Amino acid sequence: MKRLLVSFLTLCLLAACSSISPAPTPTVVFDTDLDHLQPDLPIFREPLIESQRSILTAMDDATVYRIEFAIDEDLIHVEGKEIVFYTNREDESLSNIQFRLFPNILGGTMEVRDLLVDGKPVTPSYGLENSLMTVPLESPLAVGQSIRLEMEFSLEVPTDVELNYGVLASYEGVLTLAHAYPVIPVYNDEGWNAELPPQAGDLTFNDAAFYLVTVTAPKDLMIVASGLESAPVTTGRQQVLNVAIGPARDFFLAASDDYEVVSQQVGEVTINSYAPKSLQEQNQAALTAAARAMKTFSEQYTPYPYTEFDIVVTPTLALGIEYPGATAIAERILLGEYGEQTSAYLESTTVHEVAHQWFYNLVGNDQLDEPWLDESLAQYVTWQYYELNFGAGAADGFEQSLLGRWARVENAPIPIGQPVAAYEGREYGAIVYGRGAFFFEALKNKMGAPAFDAFLRDYAVTFAWENASTEELKLLAEKHCNCDLTPLFEEWVY
Ligand SMILES: [Zn+2]
Repeated sequence: MKRLLVSFLTLCLLAACSSISPAPTPTVVFDTDLDHLQPDLPIFREPLIESQRSILTAMDDATVYRIEFAIDEDLIHVEGKEIVFYTNREDESLSNIQFRLFPNILGGTMEVRDLLVDGKPVTPSYGLENSLMTVPLESPLAVGQSIRLEMEFSLEVPTDVELNYGVLASYEGVLTLAHAYPVIPVYNDEGWNAELPPQAGDLTFNDAAFYLVTVTAPKDLMIVASGLESAPVTTGRQQVLNVAIGPARDFFLAASDDYEVVSQQVGEVTINSYAPKSLQEQNQAALTAAARAMKTFSEQYTPYPYTEFDIVVTPTLALGIEYPGATAIAERILLGEYGEQTSAYLESTTVHEVAHQWFYNLVGNDQLDEPWLDESLAQYVTWQYYELNFGAGAADGFEQSLLGRWARVENAPIPIGQPVAAYEGREYGAIVYGRGAFFFEALKNKMGAPAFDAFLRDYAVTFAWENASTEELKLLAEKHCNCDLTPLFEEWVY
C-alpha cells in the first residue's frame, strides 16, 4: 500500500481570519500508511481544539473510514472507494459486520462491489430495501480484535428533494451528500441498530468515528464538508481536496458553484457560512447567530470540540439539518418564506443546529428510538440561548413559538420519549420540538437551577463521544438533585 504523509498547514492565522474573509485554507496532505490508520495519527489533531486532542489516544480503537469520492460533472453520479478499520469494541464477539447503504432508501441508488475483508473477497447479503449490507466474517471477530474492510461503490444521487427532507440530493445546482457512504451502525444490547427510518426525523444512530476523505470534483464547485478541508488542487477541469475529522458521528458534504463564504473566529474555532451570492446579507446574519451560539454553549456546557464549523445553505425541506462540524440551513428561510419572521426563523434554526453539535454529535443518542434526547434538548437550549444573550423578553418570544408548536396538537400531553415512528402526523413536531422543551423547564424547576445547570454540563462531559439513553439521562439528573424523578418522567417522558 501507498505511504502518505500526514501534514496540516493552517495558512490562515487566527488574527487574519476574523470577520468577512475567505475561509481558511489549511493544506491537508495524507501521507499515512494505509495499513495502519488509527485515530491517534497526527492528521486528526488539527481539526480538534487543543484541549480536546487527548481524546485521540483515549479513542484509539474507534472506527476509521478512509473514503474517496469522485463527483461527476453532472453532480448526480459519484464513484467511491472506502477502506474501514474496525475494532470490535462491544462486549461479545461478532459474526458479521453491518453497513447502512442509506442512498437506496433516499430516492437514489448505491451499489457496492469488490468487497474485501482483510484482503479476501467476500459476498455480502442485503436487507431493509437494500439499505442494509451484512458482511459475513470467516471466523467471529473477538472483542478487541481488528479487521480491515475495503469496497468500491457507485452512487446515483436523486434529483429532487422528495424523501427525508432532501438530505441527499442534486437539486438547483446544489449537491448535498448526506449518508452517502457505507456506514456501520451502533451495536448494542439490541445487536446491530438497523431499521427502516420513517420520513420524519433523522436517519442515523452511529458511534463516533474518524474520517479521512478525498474529494475529486469539477473545479468550479465550492466544497463544504464536515471537518477541516484542504485548499483544493486544480488540474484541468478537476479539483482534489482532502478532509479530516474525528471523532464524528457521520460525514457530510455539500457543493455548489454559487456559494460565497463569510467567516468569523470564536476562540480557536473558525465559523464559515456558505450561501448563494445573492443572499449575503442573510448569510452574515446566520454567521452572527452561529458565532453567538457557539460561544454560549461552549461556556454553558463544554467547549465545541473542532477548530471549524460550517453552515451551508441548501434546498432542504427541513428548516435545518445537523451534521458533525456542519449544518445545512434551508434556502427558503433566507429567501424570506417566513416574511417578517425571516430573521427570527434564521436565528432560531441556526442556534438549534449549533446546539446539535453538543446533543447529537458530542453526546450521541438513538435518533430513531429516542429522538427527544437530542431534539427536545436542542430546543430547550435554544430557549436558554435567548434568555442568556437577550434576556427575558427574547426568551418569551421563543417560548411562544414552542407553545405554538405544541398547540398544533391542542397541547395534548403525549409522551415526549417515544420513537419517531410512534408519532402520527403533526405529533412528532408538536411533541418532540414543542412539548419536549417544556419538560426540561419542568425538570429545572424540580431540580433547582444550579443543580440543573450542573447536571446538563455533566451530561455533555460524561457522555462525550458516547451514546446516552433516556434512563442514563434520568439517573444522572437524579444524582445531581438527589431526588426521585420517576413521577416527573412519568408525567412527561414515558
Ligand atoms: Zn434538530
